[in-house]
Amino acid sequence: MNNVFPSTHPLMSTKLTRLRDIRTEPKKFRELVREIAIMLAVEATQDLAVRPTTVQTPLMEAHGFDLMERVGLVPILRSGLGMVEGVWELMPSSEVWHIGLYRDERTLKPVAYYNRLPVEPTVSVCFILDPMLATGGSAVATVDILKKWGVRKIKFLGLIAAPEGIETLHNAHPDVPIHIGAIDSRLNEHGYILPGLGDAGDRQFGT
Ligand code: URA
Repeated sequence: MNNVFPSTHPLMSTKLTRLRDIRTEPKKFRELVREIAIMLAVEATQDLAVRPTTVQTPLMEAHGFDLMERVGLVPILRSGLGMVEGVWELMPSSEVWHIGLYRDERTLKPVAYYNRLPVEPTVSVCFILDPMLATGGSAVATVDILKKWGVRKIKFLGLIAAPEGIETLHNAHPDVPIHIGAIDSRLNEHGYILPGLGDAGDRQFGT
């Protein structure tokens, strides 16, 4: 599928294996989420625009580059929080904008309960951070919010996806690249990804 980028890196598959393991404790789980998020971000930032600059080394002037784009990191609460730290280290001047969504029991549609985006967009590119792309409902709703805010360049970064989630997000927003650690088999009747890793929030926060 166009614009869907499952990782093929051997370190991604070994790290995901440790992440899935039920014996992996929250501390190690958080470390792995951080490392995997960095690997995804390295892939997803390949086309960021840079402008030439010069710096003085101890020996002479050297040509180099500065990042031109204003980057926004958008973790989906709460499980996206663990992906922020590593990506933020790569791009320390990024802004972090939180979005919280819950699923309305009656309509089954995602509803935003936390969104403090200012009226005008302050960034030119947004990276949505959400570990599990399950039904795709919250990913679609988040892209809707960011597009309405006025951001044109949006990318989705996730650890594990279900084919159903990829399809839903891709159909709704084919212009949004999906960078994902692995694509699993399917969703179960409770909306969990199989084989997956269980609840990404509970496993990070020890709840
Ligand atoms: N959210 C999770 O945390 N895990 C899943 O498998 C699906 C959604």
